[in-house]
Amino acid sequence: MSSTTGNIIRCKAAVAREAGKPLVIEEVEVAPPQKMEVRLKILFTSLCHTDVYFWEAKGQNPLFPRILGHEAGGIVESVGEGVTELKPGDKVLPVFTGECGECRHCKSEESNMCDLLRINTDRGTMINDGKTRFSKDGQPIYHFLGTSTFSEYTVVHSGCVAKINPDAPLDKVCVLSCGISTGMGATLNVAKPKEGMSVAIFGLGAVGLAAAEGARIAGASRIIGIDLNPNRAEEAKKFGVTEFVNPKDHDKPIQEVIAEMTDGGVDRSVECTGNVKAMISAFECVHDGWGVAVLVGVPNKDDEFKTLPIHLLNERTLKGTFFGNYKPRTDIPGVVEKYMKKELEVEKFITHQVEFSEINKAFEYMLKGEGLRCIIRMGA
Ligand code: NAD
Ligand code: ZN
Ligand code: ZN
Repeated sequence: MSSTTGNIIRCKAAVAREAGKPLVIEEVEVAPPQKMEVRLKILFTSLCHTDVYFWEAKGQNPLFPRILGHEAGGIVESVGEGVTELKPGDKVLPVFTGECGECRHCKSEESNMCDLLRINTDRGTMINDGKTRFSKDGQPIYHFLGTSTFSEYTVVHSGCVAKINPDAPLDKVCVLSCGISTGMGATLNVAKPKEGMSVAIFGLGAVGLAAAEGARIAGASRIIGIDLNPNRAEEAKKFGVTEFVNPKDHDKPIQEVIAEMTDGGVDRSVECTGNVKAMISAFECVHDGWGVAVLVGVPNKDDEFKTLPIHLLNERTLKGTFFGNYKPRTDIPGVVEKYMKKELEVEKFITHQVEFSEINKAFEYMLKGEGLRCIIRMGA
C-alpha cells in the first residue's frame, strides 16, 4: 500500500472553467476511490475531437468547471471497496464507455452498450454517490465521460478500465483508449467489408484514418477518403487511402460524385466527421442492395438525420457505433497485443507531443486541422 492510499491527493489538472477558454492548470484535490472505483495516475493522454466539442459547448450541453480528457494511459494508484480485478501498479487504459460484465449488453456478443457504464456525456459525477471526486477549495469540479484524464490523478469506475500488457509503452498505446480502436472497430466490427469491396471514409482525422486502416486490413480494393481539409490527401496515403475527394472541389452533392466513381455507390462507408450533412452523404453514397453505412462522428445534440426512407427500402443499411463495438475490458487488451506483435501500427497516428503545461497547444492543432493525435506528457 502506498502512502497515498485512502488519502486525498493534491495534483495538477487542466480545468475547463468556461466554454472555449484555454484550460487552466490548477492544483486540485482528488478524493480516494469509492466502491468499485479505482484511482489512476495518468502518464500520457491525448486529445480527441469529442473533448473539443464539450469544451466549445456549442452543440453540446455546457457543464463547467470540468476536467476533460478520455484518451489516455496510466497506472492504478489505489482501488476502492469490492475491486478484485485490478491492483495498484497495474498498467491500464481508461475507456469512456464501460463494461460491468453482468448486464444483458455485456452478456451479448453484439453490444458494448453496458446498461450501467455506457457513455454518458452529460453526467459530471460518479455513479456510486452522484458526487465528484475532484474539488478545489471545497468546490466540486465535474468529471467528463467517467474518465477526466487531463489530470495527474483521476478516479474512474473499475468497469471502465482495461488492464493491458505491463510491457506496453503507454506513450504509444494510449491512443488505443479511444480514437484508433473506435475507427478500426467501426470498420472491422460494424461495417465488416468483405475482401475486394470498396469503402468510403468521411473525415480523415485519427478516427477516420484508423477506419481506413481497418478497411486495408479487411482487404478492401478501393478506399476513398473524403475530407474538406486538402492537407489530409497526402497524409491519408500512409493509411491505405487509394483516392482522395474534397467536397469543396465539386458543385454537386458528394454522394453523387462517389456514386459516379463507383458504378452506383460504395459497398461500405464509415463517417468520422461529426457533421450531420456528412453523415447523410455517407449513408446516401452506399450502393443499394447491399451497401452498409456506419456513423461514428458525434453529432450536435439537436442534429436530425434526414433522408428518404426509400433509400432504406432499397436495401441499404444504416448503423452507428461507440468505440467501434469493442468491449473495453474484454477486447482492448487484445488490441494492445496486436500492437505489441507489430500487427498494428500506432506511431503514424501520433504527429505531435507536448508537455502537460502546454495542453492548450493540442487544442490549437486540432482546431487548425494540423496533424492527427497530439500526446500530452503528464510528467513523472
Ligand atoms: P478530427 O478533427 O481529427 O478529424 C475530423 C476530420 O473530419 C477532419 O479532418 C475534418 O477536416 C473532417 N471533416 C469535418 N467536417 C467534414 C465534412 N463535412 N466533410 C468531410 N470531412 C469533414 O477528429 P477525430 O478525433 O478523428 O474524431 C472524428 C469524429 O469521431 C468526431 O466527431 C469525434 O467526436 C468522433 N468520435 C466518435 C467516437 C465514437 O465512439 N463514436 C469515438 C471517438 C471520436
Ligand atoms: Zn474520443
Ligand atoms: Zn454491463
